[in-house]
Amino acid sequence: MVVDDEPQIRNMYALAFQGAGYSVECADSAEASIQMLKNSPASVFFLDLNLPGVDGVSLCKAIHTQRPMSVIYAVTGYASLFELWECREAGFEDYFIKPVRLSMLIQAAEHAFMKQHRWRRR
Ligand SMILES: [Mg+2]
Repeated sequence: MVVDDEPQIRNMYALAFQGAGYSVECADSAEASIQMLKNSPASVFFLDLNLPGVDGVSLCKAIHTQRPMSVIYAVTGYASLFELWECREAGFEDYFIKPVRLSMLIQAAEHAFMKQHRWRRR
């Protein structure tokens, strides 16, 4: 699931993930994302940190509470507002600074699904 308040970013990431064979859902806010989670099997997340309303750090915590096996990445243009330690503390797997190379996001998704696959086999 991609959560970003900028439609161009959502579309760009969604196309990239679809191109790599993943099914993607997009939300334009933390609130919308939490709503979508009720009917979504999503387990890998790319969250914009700077969202109107509930921010990405709080959303990360909320997703992990609801779905502990989720792998969640931060994607931000505002790295100075959210320090790396804060991202780690919130439970983000890693974080990316915009503009992100799309191949990096695809690699991150691959890594996340592999990791979840290993967890399930335990
Ligand atoms: Mg934003």
